[in-house]
Amino acid sequence: MPPDTVEEPARQIPVYGDYEIVVLGGGPAGIAASVAAARAGRRTLLIERYGFLGGMGTAAGVTNFCGLHANVHGEMRRVVQGIASDLLARIDRLGGLNAPHLVLGKILAQAYDTAAYKIAADDLLAAHKVDVLFHALGAGVVMHDERRIDALLVETRAGRQAVRARIFIDCSGDGDLAAWAGAPFEIGDDHGGMLYPSMMFRLNGVDPEKAGEAWRTIPALMEQAETAGTHRFPRKGAIVRPQRSGIEWRVNVTQLAGPDGRAINGIEPGELTRGEIEGRRQAVQAFDFLRTVPGFENSYIVDLPPQLGIRETRRITGDYALGSDDVLGCAEFSDSIGVNGWPIEAHVAGDVVFRFPPIPESRGFNELPYRMLLPQGLDNLLVAGRCASMTHEGQSAARVSGACFAMGEAAGVAAGLALTGNTSPRQIAVEKLQQVLKQQGAFIGRDQAVPEGL
Ligand SMILES: Cc1cc2nc3c(=O)[nH]c(=O)nc-3n(C[C@H](O)[C@H](O)[C@H](O)COP(=O)(O)OP(=O)(O)OC[C@H]3O[C@@H](n4cnc5c(N)ncnc54)[C@H](O)[C@@H]3O)c2cc1C
Repeated sequence: MPPDTVEEPARQIPVYGDYEIVVLGGGPAGIAASVAAARAGRRTLLIERYGFLGGMGTAAGVTNFCGLHANVHGEMRRVVQGIASDLLARIDRLGGLNAPHLVLGKILAQAYDTAAYKIAADDLLAAHKVDVLFHALGAGVVMHDERRIDALLVETRAGRQAVRARIFIDCSGDGDLAAWAGAPFEIGDDHGGMLYPSMMFRLNGVDPEKAGEAWRTIPALMEQAETAGTHRFPRKGAIVRPQRSGIEWRVNVTQLAGPDGRAINGIEPGELTRGEIEGRRQAVQAFDFLRTVPGFENSYIVDLPPQLGIRETRRITGDYALGSDDVLGCAEFSDSIGVNGWPIEAHVAGDVVFRFPPIPESRGFNELPYRMLLPQGLDNLLVAGRCASMTHEGQSAARVSGACFAMGEAAGVAAGLALTGNTSPRQIAVEKLQQVLKQQGAFIGRDQAVPEGL
């Protein structure tokens, strides 16, 4: 029998740079975290494995912001502001932002163009003098001691390198950095079942007039096709909607499971590989049906994104885990650093199940406590985004872009304050963090008036 491990010889790793704050991952959380850290005057590096920013929003072809808005007693308001507003304005100036659209008659989402998002995010980081290292895959850590990270190891085209920082912010979506550093984490529900991934794709060549409001009819047409036996679909809850130009539509209809029916695990390489291939196969199947929908006859798949869309993997255990009761009960927290207005959106086997706070009785958003960004057992690490400290159900709401922007911005400001006070993120004065966030235009709930408008 061959041995199942090999020993890697010890080697000296060149240091790429020594920073005050290093952010791993350039999705919504990482974009906001790095901008906030640099805005605090700190030498900041953002590390991203791809050659562009946006995270799932670009790399997985999501092309749609959720969670920027809340249904506040029946009235729509944009509750995520701050750095997200700056980014949205830049996407809009590039002509890449749709007007917000209604989802299920209850909440707003806002589509965007992937290219515009990438360019706007580059510009935003450059404007704040964030250093960026693309095509660098975080691969491990070197620790000072059990509680403090010394360096992040990255694999680059120039080989393995080390990046030092005084404070790290894990915005990898998968909690890679936190897990390597020894932070506790959870995966999935009580049985380890995660939200199902989807392979997004976009169609071009749609006839906008003929297609009309096809997003309303497509789910019923899919049911009819299944009943007639012409097509089979892996899930209900199809989201097929126009982008800024009505000839282009995004399609969110696939669902990736393994042979045992459980969600593909986005941190297991073999499963991910099968998920990518099966995802593209499901996209072709769905397209075969969509071409039968009036207005879609001459459409074609214009984009299959660089990667399968992963909704949930590790959730790092922090000082507080945001849960479903918090989301559905529109919880308040004295250490609030931002808000989430998106409902629970559970991608379960064969379906997508939404659960909203009461409308119009409730204010429609919950606050996000600072404690969910503080991983247990580590002193110079913050975690923001979909891998922050949440229960499985809490994550199925606050994983969307809006809340991730809010968490990222707070993590960046908090890291700056910790350095200023020569202390750890856990020890900073939360009131000061809240004050800075508000001064910078963020909405954190508490005593602030809910922002007007969309
Ligand atoms: C199919 C699908 C549809 C969705 N639909 C919507 C929607 O309509 N609206 C919405 O708002 N949200 C939607 N979401 C959710 C949303 O896109 C994500 O939850 C959100 O992008 C999470 O942001 P994040 O910054 O925490 O992580 P991510 O967006 O996952 O970004 C993490 C970044 O870190 C990088 N990274 C990860 N590990 C490493 C490493 N080791 N080294 C270097 N870089 C690394 C990744 O390349 C990525 O760029 C959807 C998600 C999926 C999968």
